[in-house]
Amino acid sequence: MVEQPELLVHNSLTRKKECFEPLDASLVRMYVCGPTVYDYAHIGNARPIIVFDTLFRLLRHLYGQEHVKYVRNITDVDDKINARAAEEGVPISEITARTIRKFHEDIAALNVLPPTVEPRATEHIAEMIAIIEKLIDRGCAYVAEGHVLYDVSADPDYGILSKRTLDEMMAGARVEVAPYKKNPMDFVLWKPSKEGEPAWNSPWGAGRPGWHIECSAMSWKHLGETFDIHGGGIDLQFPHHENEIAQSTCAHGTPFMARYWMHNGFLQVEGEKMSKSLGNFITIHELLQEWPGEVLRLNMLRTHYRAPIDWTRKGLEESKKVLDKWYQVVGDAQPAERPDEAVLAALCDDLATPRAIAELHRLAKEGRTAELKASANLMGLLPMTAEEWFETTAPKVEIDEAEIERLIAARAEARKRKDFAEADRIRDELAAKGIVLKDGPEGTTWEVKR
Ligand code: AMP
Ligand code: ZN
Repeated sequence: MVEQPELLVHNSLTRKKECFEPLDASLVRMYVCGPTVYDYAHIGNARPIIVFDTLFRLLRHLYGQEHVKYVRNITDVDDKINARAAEEGVPISEITARTIRKFHEDIAALNVLPPTVEPRATEHIAEMIAIIEKLIDRGCAYVAEGHVLYDVSADPDYGILSKRTLDEMMAGARVEVAPYKKNPMDFVLWKPSKEGEPAWNSPWGAGRPGWHIECSAMSWKHLGETFDIHGGGIDLQFPHHENEIAQSTCAHGTPFMARYWMHNGFLQVEGEKMSKSLGNFITIHELLQEWPGEVLRLNMLRTHYRAPIDWTRKGLEESKKVLDKWYQVVGDAQPAERPDEAVLAALCDDLATPRAIAELHRLAKEGRTAELKASANLMGLLPMTAEEWFETTAPKVEIDEAEIERLIAARAEARKRKDFAEADRIRDELAAKGIVLKDGPEGTTWEVKR
């Protein structure tokens, strides 16, 4: 048995790098807050997906594939989803199903592994209601005007993650003041649905859950009352994660929810967080039209996950060049049995991916192809052969659709006059450009084969 390095992770709860010790080494458990599905995800949203996928891969390497359970949820009930459904005049399920499909396509192109479980909020309403009932029973929540609210002043630990007092929170946050709240910081666990909004039956009337309770319910259902790692973007630390901790520890009477809280920094554009509301975003989908997914992944991992990334075209061009070089070196080499020790050590040091990448450069320089392949694979990189890579990245043939249609018509004419040689010549001419014709009862259609 090869000695594995110790895994260090930066824990937002203590603001320190700590030695990772799982509660149960036979099943390491991690929860990451997933997307709210109403539209294409932007490349900022891809950051936690790629970062925690890299951690998932590392944990699987250290503890064994069968010994890691990774839960990444989907938020499929939300005001933005309702608004989009109303705008298009369709049920929310149509918006969410469509968006989830696109999301899966996008992140598969980034070579992101599917999590062990991908729970959806709307499928866990019963668990949410169960937790809310426990919170009311324990005196941590109260019912007011059809709402159920978490009572922050009854919780001496509230603020444990964000390290703020109630007064500081009130000064800093945009709190929704409502006459039925005991304290302005009290947050919604359950609220009545407005006319036309989706609603579920509950002991407090037809309504819908607050956002924070979703993650407490889904992590409880799939990972238990306590688990090892909880992750997400730094913007979720407060109030979302603070509120998850408050709900879960109070409902279950546990001293903690997750042992280690990990947060990725922002992906920025000209110094500002990329976000839908600022309008400075570019979707993963759009970027994939121009760049192979692996370029986006490498570009993300070139910065340490806790530091801000400035997302630039120059960065993408550099990442593309690096991959061209590595693929040239690696050719069709098979991966070594184990990744390089220095790469592994870097990843085990709070996911120091820039250092791991520097080590990959060293392996490339030394021509150690099998180690390069195995070590890059551990980070979700170099999954293809060189031949596949250069084929996918070869400049695309410009497709002139009108010209294709003209040739298809000419071929149909040729066939009509039984000039099959000419018909075949046209088909071959198109095939040489990667255009494949299909003859069917409705006529001839075409598609691009690369
Ligand atoms: P949302 O759909 O806004 O709840 O975000 C989904 C995930 O993406 C959360 O973990 C956010 O923290 C994360 N996120 C959103 N915008 C950014 C950004 N610009 N940089 C890094 N992470 C982000
Ligand atoms: Zn969450």
